[in-house]
Amino acid sequence: MPVYEFECQSCGQVTEELVRMDTKSIKCPKCAAKASKIISLCAFDLKGGGWYADGYASKKN
Ligand SMILES: [Zn+2]
Repeated sequence: MPVYEFECQSCGQVTEELVRMDTKSIKCPKCAAKASKIISLCAFDLKGGGWYADGYASKKN
């Protein structure tokens, strides 16, 4: 299984987890809020693209 990074939508904690590819979110180990999968490392070249804008927008809530 691949390692993915998840960023908590509440406290901003970034956690690396071994999860299935289709896992979209996990529970934050720090505050137990929802942490969403973020694309890390090389994929950050896509910054400014659609997925990033979407992810950023969904944080405001
Ligand atoms: Zn948290």
